[in-house]
Order: sequence, then C-alpha cells, then structure tokens
Amino acid sequence: EEVKEPPRIHRLDESVVNRIAAGEVIQRPVSAVKELVENSLDASSTSISVLVKDGGLKLIQVSDDGHGIRYEDLPILCERHTTSKLSKYEDLQSIKSMGFRGEALASMTYVGHVTVTTITRGQLHGYRVSYRDGVMENEPKACAAVKGTQIVIENLFYNMVARRKTLQNSADDYTKIVDLLSRFAIHHIDVSFSCRKHGAARADVHSVATPSRLNAIRSVYGLSVAQNLIKIEASDNDPSSSVFEMDGFISNSNYVAKKTTMVLFINDRLVECTALKRALEIVYVATLPKASKPFIYMSITLPPEHVDVNVHPTKREVSLLNQEVIVEKIQSVVESVLRNSNESRTFQEQT
Ligand code: ADP
Ligand code: MG
Repeated sequence: EEVKEPPRIHRLDESVVNRIAAGEVIQRPVSAVKELVENSLDASSTSISVLVKDGGLKLIQVSDDGHGIRYEDLPILCERHTTSKLSKYEDLQSIKSMGFRGEALASMTYVGHVTVTTITRGQLHGYRVSYRDGVMENEPKACAAVKGTQIVIENLFYNMVARRKTLQNSADDYTKIVDLLSRFAIHHIDVSFSCRKHGAARADVHSVATPSRLNAIRSVYGLSVAQNLIKIEASDNDPSSSVFEMDGFISNSNYVAKKTTMVLFINDRLVECTALKRALEIVYVATLPKASKPFIYMSITLPPEHVDVNVHPTKREVSLLNQEVIVEKIQSVVESVLRNSNESRTFQEQT
C-alpha cells in the first residue's frame, strides 16, 4: 500500500496571520464600535458620538472629547501590541482601563480602512492620518480639529468576502450597535452618548450626563421601563467565601417584555454572565405570577485580583473567583426584593 508523503509545514505570511487574528477580535461591526467606544472612555471623554452607515460596513465613525493622541505616537498607533495602558504582565491584575492588549486599532486596519483625527490639549491644530495593515499610509497632515479624537473605519471586511456577505444579509447590526450604546449610556451616566444612522435626522441613542441612573434609564429605555424598576443592592465582605458589591435596578411585576434585558457591568466592564442571567430568570419565573422576562441593570464590583479579564480576545466574558457563591447571593437578594414588592402590591390591590 502506498504511504502518502506528509505535507510540508511552512510559516504563514505575517499579513495572513494578522488578518486571521483581526477577524477574531473584530467579529462584526458592533465589535469595532465596542472597541472604539471603550478607547474613548479610557481617554476620559465626557461626550462620545457614533455615526453608522450601512450597518457599519460602509462607515463607523466614533468621535470623542478625550485626551487625544500624541503626534509622536501616531506612527505606531495601529501596530499590533502597541498600547499606553499596560507595560508589564503583572499590571493586568489591577488594570482599570477597558483596553490593555493594544490589538483593537491594529485589527481594524487589517480588515478595514482606518482614519484617525486627533488633537491634544494646548495644540493649535490636530492631525489626520490613515492606516492600512498596521502601518501609516502617509505622514500625519495638520488639520483643524476640536478637542479629542475621531476614528473612522470604512469598508469593514472589504478583504473578507464570506464575512461581508453574511453580514450584508443580516439587517440587525445597526440594532446591535444601538443596543450596545444604550448599555454604555446607562452605566457611564457622567458621559453623554449619541448614536445615529447616516442620513437620519434623529439619534437613536441620545443621553446627557446626569447624576441619576434612573434618569439615564428613562432617557435611553423609555418611561415604561423606568417607572417599573426597583432599586437593589447587595454586598459581601467575607474573604473566605466572597467579596463583592452590587447595585442596580430590576423590573417589578408590572413590567412586560418577551425578552430578558440584562445589562451587566463587572468592575465597569460590559460583560455577559450566562450563569447569573439564568439564575435571575429562574427567580422571576418562580416569583412573579405573569412570568414576564425581566429588565435588569446590575453593576458588580470585586477586588480586581478576583476577576480574570483576559479569558477572551473580545473581553466579552470574564471569569470570577467564587462565581457560584456570588451568583447565589445575588439570586437570593433579588428573590426577596421581588417577593416583598409583590406582597405589598397584592396588599395594595386588596385594600
Ligand atoms: P488598547 O486600548 O488595548 O491600548 P487599542 O488598539 O484599542 O489598544 O488602542 C491603542 C492605543 O491608542 C491606546 O492604548 C491609546 O493610547 C490610543 N487610543 C486609541 N483610541 C484613543 C482615543 N479615542 N483617544 C485617545 N487615545 C486613544
Ligand atoms: Mg482599546
């Protein structure tokens, strides 16, 4: 019998490697928007606006009023693994910024056309420069600019035929972007956010800085949500089981929705936690007579060394120390708050 020769192993071109990696970090237009908005938040912005054309495939533009980018840093801005946020591995344990990998902007230049306009404090003019495949396409050009940074991504996935086709057929990317900005807006209430579709007269998300979380929720999700919320809080400080603080708002029995909305921030990072979401859905089904799906906004703070932020390239999931204990404790707080509110309501209806 003929034995097949083993195929030769060769090293992939760096451009191929980079494009593959970029496709993982930037999975869809909404992932690019998340990275850009997080950069704006990291830059201490107080106002962030997003403009989207064709679900983000034609254009994503994020403008902020943050600290800007230094002229000297522009040449390496979009190289892979260049960052102002992390120096040594140990810093990861206490990192407060959203970003740390120095991968997002680079990734965007491998799957789209990136143009940056930025001005730092005290400068008379800003600079504009475009990037392709990690490198600057031209010397930065002086230009007029207001405070902060504007990043434009055009023709996202122009070089990934299959990805572009699948995304073109799905109309819901703009919806995902609006949903994302809504979430940021009710957490970062000291920042004003807007999100608008190109050509539209009105913004779909429009929040102004406010000291009141409930105000923010009202302006983003509407009165029907805001007027049916109950404030919740919980904390634990037992080093042998769990250390955390949680505060948020959960919907009461008058709230009606077909789908759960769970807006979860852990140490100010927008994340998903399926275990917690399921646990709370179970409480709602068990406690409320007309089993409506809940609206939940929750912010959990843990000692930074209890959170591993580095489990996923999109940083969408984080893993928590003592996750089960924390989930159980939050579940029982939510349960008792719901029971109380439900009993007082039944009582009111009877009298
Ligand atoms: P990371 O956020 O992980 O550092 P990025 O590729 O997202 O990596 O960004 C690289 C660097 O570019 C950041 O560390 C930051 O210094 C700078 N930067 C990116 N976006 C902005 C912005 N909107 N304002 C100011 N600086 C920015
Ligand atoms: Mg970043």
